[in-house]
Amino acid sequence: MSDAQPAGGSERAWLRHAGIRPKKRLGQNFLINPNFRDRLIAAIGVAEDDAVLEIGPGSGSLTLPLARIAKRVWAVERDKRLYDLLSERSEAELPGAALTMIHEDILAVDPGVLAREAGRPLLLVGNLPYAVTSPILLWMLKHRDSFAGAVIMVQKEYGDRLRATPGGPGSSSLTVWAAYHARVTQEMRVPPTVFWPPPDVDSLLLRLHFHEQPPYPLSDPGWLEQSLRISFGKRRKQLGGCVADALDLSRNEAVELLQKLSIDPARRGETLTLEEHCRLAEAIGRGWPGHLARHGR
Ligand code: SAM
Repeated sequence: MSDAQPAGGSERAWLRHAGIRPKKRLGQNFLINPNFRDRLIAAIGVAEDDAVLEIGPGSGSLTLPLARIAKRVWAVERDKRLYDLLSERSEAELPGAALTMIHEDILAVDPGVLAREAGRPLLLVGNLPYAVTSPILLWMLKHRDSFAGAVIMVQKEYGDRLRATPGGPGSSSLTVWAAYHARVTQEMRVPPTVFWPPPDVDSLLLRLHFHEQPPYPLSDPGWLEQSLRISFGKRRKQLGGCVADALDLSRNEAVELLQKLSIDPARRGETLTLEEHCRLAEAIGRGWPGHLARHGR
């Protein structure tokens, strides 16, 4: 630590105190604007009864206000410098709070253990490190039974894809995959100027309302990922060509299989609705190979 403890101090004062130079690799853009922090906390809408898991607390700009409201908060920080800083800061500013700091990569954390300890599913919160947004989302969906919901901040372009409608403008494989698991709503748009250092782009605060049941349940949700790799694998290619290439079929065989599913083989992956993607995923997962055997392959 470089200078006297700035008890009650600003984010910048605490970061300066700890001599923190932000690491781009860890997506370190710290929220330093107190007005925006208050607006974000209000938008997150944490309740007294909530058990919160925060990803990447940094200097604690969201963590401490969350810990003032929620009955239980776990904060998982990968950078030891920030883990030490926030441990010291919470001791100074919020002694006795129900805040548990964990020095760990979030991807290595099993939230099921924390949810069991809390006796309830967790509210997942995070101003996400942008470089690892996709792995974190995969981790979140793998453990989605441990979460009551999630409120995350992501880069605007990424957020736009997450909350697009499958088959509509801006739809991508990420859109379809998110829509299978959750309804995504935008809570706030956040400008770069409220962070230090400022990122290059705007950010979005999004809420994921997990479906109790997916709208079109699949025998195995993993089949959707496999199918999305096929239908979005070659973006400028028609679905018939994508399926033929991926499954090593002739163009005619792929066309016939897609027509059996009432999906026009001339369409492109990004035009399919969620229901059509699920129909395709179920067919591929259930083993078109079995069907193909009847085609003498
Ligand atoms: N929550 C703070 C805020 O809003 O100011 C910091 C947000 S900053 C965008 C992302 C934070 O995630 C950093 O503190 C960074 O060190 C941390 N981080 C990066 N990768 C991580 C990982 N794999 N697991 C846990 N924390 C991580």
